[in-house]
Amino acid sequence: MKIRVIALHDLVYSDRQLENFFDFLNSYFHLVNLKDFKSGYFKPCILLTADDGYDDWKKFIPIVEKYNFSLMLGVCTSFIDPLISYSKKTAILTENLHRSKRGVIPISVGTFQELSSHKNVIIADHSYDHIDFGSSDVSVLEAQIQKSQDVFNVYNINVNDFIFPFGQRHNVPHYHDIENILKEYGYTRGWGFYRRFPPRRFLLPRTGIDPSMPKIEIIARISRARAISVDWMHE
Ligand SMILES: [Zn+2]
Repeated sequence: MKIRVIALHDLVYSDRQLENFFDFLNSYFHLVNLKDFKSGYFKPCILLTADDGYDDWKKFIPIVEKYNFSLMLGVCTSFIDPLISYSKKTAILTENLHRSKRGVIPISVGTFQELSSHKNVIIADHSYDHIDFGSSDVSVLEAQIQKSQDVFNVYNINVNDFIFPFGQRHNVPHYHDIENILKEYGYTRGWGFYRRFPPRRFLLPRTGIDPSMPKIEIIARISRARAISVDWMHE
């Protein structure tokens, strides 16, 4: 069975907009639950993921319960690092992530703990502070992963997935360098936005959409997305 993996970001939208968006996704697509995945769905299967770590992600809880899908959340671990200040976290949000949308704030520890303990949620590493691997090298990648691991250890969480910030990694020139580092730290999958290339274990493709897009655009993007075997999620 094939799935298409979709990337969202913040949920800073009105309740009505979010309700319309998820109702629409649920009516056109099968929202995959990895714990209960059979074959032969009539509708195209999509796995939902979201990147960065926003406090409005608490709105995901009633949504994943209503539709009962699996949700992978790629968190910038600096946002949940108990050792750094809130002002430093908001600086990372504006300077590294380039996010200045009104109402967008870093995920709180409370929201993170609520989400990470939910049965439908899979936590992924989205680097420590959203360094652009389009312009930094393999030693920077390793340092970021080490810092992320230190934070996940505080919460006693095991993480299998690494989501490249900005979906990019072209300054880490060799796929095998990425593979070796991620494997060494216990990851089993890596995610980018590279739909033109054949999927590889540490370079799986995703496609970005957001709730403010016209429905026709969302359908077009998802139909252009590269589908991957659901086996990648179970190996
Ligand atoms: Zn990101």
